Amino acid sequence: MPDPLLSIDRLSSGYGDFQALFDISFDLQQGHVMGLIGANGAGKTTLFKAIMGLLPRSKGTVHFQGKPIGGAPANTLARLGLAMVPEGRRLFRSLSVEENLRLAADHGRKGHWDLGKLYRLFPILEEKRHQPALSLSGGQQQMVAIGRALVANPHLILFDEISLGLAPVVINDVYAAMPDIVGSGISAILVEQDIDRVRKTADMLVCLREGRKALQGPTAAIGKHDITVAYFGE
Ligand code: ATP
Repeated sequence: MPDPLLSIDRLSSGYGDFQALFDISFDLQQGHVMGLIGANGAGKTTLFKAIMGLLPRSKGTVHFQGKPIGGAPANTLARLGLAMVPEGRRLFRSLSVEENLRLAADHGRKGHWDLGKLYRLFPILEEKRHQPALSLSGGQQQMVAIGRALVANPHLILFDEISLGLAPVVINDVYAAMPDIVGSGISAILVEQDIDRVRKTADMLVCLREGRKALQGPTAAIGKHDITVAYFGE
């Protein structure tokens, strides 16, 4: 069995004195899509931040491709092949669409995704490539945020609520891109409120409740009732 792509072992983290994550452990093998679910405040974004080293870890380890990553700057993580699409997008709003994408490509790895392939996936971005990111609609900005992650050719992308605030038709567009993304060899962890969508997209699930892992397993083996119990307790 090869090293897992991502291995999290007894990870605890929080904000100052407030502990938000308690002893989280799981492995993600390459080629898989994991759905990270749980109620508001369960700790999903905190877990992403702790993985990316944006929050101090009070305990535990994170290994990426068998190597410990702790406190590495974002550029180093990009070169290793780890990317995050954060909630709220965080683009360079006054730079053009293409400048945003080129910056990410320059800091990432070479591989399947380049600007041309990305523009075929999201044609609207080619049309708007010279416009400042802030002039785009929310859905289009979300595509730029996803595009920035893709053109860095990562092994793993952490997607944090990419459908937040988007119209349903745009959400469909964004999720329609997932098979292309995963088909190009990228693994993913997906935080998403829409459980049906997660179940369709992810082949394994981890559910957090109040900072603790409440459920883990292959999506096919987990029923709706299991998820309800994991969200809210018995
Ligand atoms: P949501 O779906 O609402 O984004 P989440 O599962 O991502 O929820 P987190 O944002 O990780 O949850 O929050 C986990 C816990 O940490 C919550 O109790 C939250 O109030 C707390 N928390 C989050 N951000 C901060 C912060 N910057 N400072 C202090 N506490 C925080």
